[in-house]
Amino acid sequence: MAITSAAGLLATWEAGLTEAPPARALLLHRTARPDTDTGRLPQLPVGEREADLFALRRALFGERMQVRLGCLACGEDMEFELDAGELARSLGGREALADGAGGRGGPASGPGGPDGSAEAPGGSSGGLGAAVAHGLGGSVVRVQQDGWDVEFRLPGVADLAAAARTADPRGALLARCLVAAVRDGVAVGADDLPVPVQRRIAEAVEAADPGADLALNVACPECGAATRAELDIASYLWTELDAWARDVLLDVHLLATAYGWSEPEILALSPLRRRYYLELCADV
Ligand SMILES: [Zn+2]
Repeated sequence: MAITSAAGLLATWEAGLTEAPPARALLLHRTARPDTDTGRLPQLPVGEREADLFALRRALFGERMQVRLGCLACGEDMEFELDAGELARSLGGREALADGAGGRGGPASGPGGPDGSAEAPGGSSGGLGAAVAHGLGGSVVRVQQDGWDVEFRLPGVADLAAAARTADPRGALLARCLVAAVRDGVAVGADDLPVPVQRRIAEAVEAADPGADLALNVACPECGAATRAELDIASYLWTELDAWARDVLLDVHLLATAYGWSEPEILALSPLRRRYYLELCADV
């Protein structure tokens, strides 16, 4: 559970301003999970991080997310809504609570309490012969097929980033996250895994960590064509935080000018009171 103050959020925003997207995503993840060791966050399964960020988004700015997308076929501008709370829950995220932003859509409170679940729904049902176990080293899926017995760690953002820097990202990811592979009782390496077993591993990972590959399929109201898009919740949330932070700084500027209050004093006000005092200033 994260209680994030307006001052804390502003500090997060300031720290991320000069950073690249991966570092910003890490800052946001740290805000969502302040109780988890920062060094461990990049190792958490990718989908778990996405769920954490959706939960943070819900806590900060509410459930409704506006998404805009251009149709790939005809170029029509499409706009639709997503439910951050629903996504966080369905992806198995932990609920995050915050009172800092107050949200443009009012205080974020929705149906359903925090469920604290860190396990993805269906996480242990990756199909026949696949199981997922949550251990100290993260979550591990197990695939047993045709005499093969493979244990594979769910990739985190650190794994994806490291693999992306190699000439063969797929192979690198396989080697990085392979915990153990045994064929007919003999230990083998990642290079020895046949394609069907690799495919089974990919399926088991997807079933255990569904948020890792969150794709939207949107049908165009104009031409009917479907456009597939990936929603990058980290950059979506960063854009919102950036807009929020600049609004808050403007509020501080206006209130400090009008009343002579300090920044900490103004940030300590609830968003509602801040708004009210601003209206009074405007009326004068
Ligand atoms: Zn279209």
